[in-house]
Amino acid sequence: MKLLILDRDGVINYDSDAYIKNLDEWIPLPGAIEAIARLSQAGWTVAVATNQSGVARGYYDLPMLEAMHARLRELVAEQGGELGLIVNCIHGPAEGCDCRKPKPGMLEQIAAHYGVALKGIWFVGDSSGDLTAAQTVDCQPVLVKTGKGERTLAKGLPAGTLVFDNLAAVADQLLHL
Ligand SMILES: [Mg+2]
Ligand SMILES: [Zn+2]
Repeated sequence: MKLLILDRDGVINYDSDAYIKNLDEWIPLPGAIEAIARLSQAGWTVAVATNQSGVARGYYDLPMLEAMHARLRELVAEQGGELGLIVNCIHGPAEGCDCRKPKPGMLEQIAAHYGVALKGIWFVGDSSGDLTAAQTVDCQPVLVKTGKGERTLAKGLPAGTLVFDNLAAVADQLLHL
């Protein structure tokens, strides 16, 4: 199968240092929904692995997070696509869970769900933690310059990281446009 894994905030929707706490703050980046729909229509399975410690911090609750993801699925469906598995880490940094990026637990959950090996699968993110998680499990680290991407780029990237302007450019590359 053709599997692509995405971070959420800063890749699919605008990010904020104050967290994305409700549906009003969850705003897709230009071209991102269409990119997911185009990939889906071309036979790609698009999954999401997202750190959401705002739940542990009490900024929003799990039903609100699920409402954001229902909205995301709905928007992709409106464009004629389908979004795959969404995995979130709702733990705080001090909880020591296996899922919070830079740990690769969510990538492993997605691989187990689909019964595929992670080696070489593209993981697209905007933060160092995304790139580290990808590298740890032999995924292809991919940075987009949206969200925190420019900041991450300025800090230096793991060897072999691919860099694109945004998710639409990643889709163009994968679809050979
Ligand atoms: Mg992000
Ligand atoms: Zn976690």
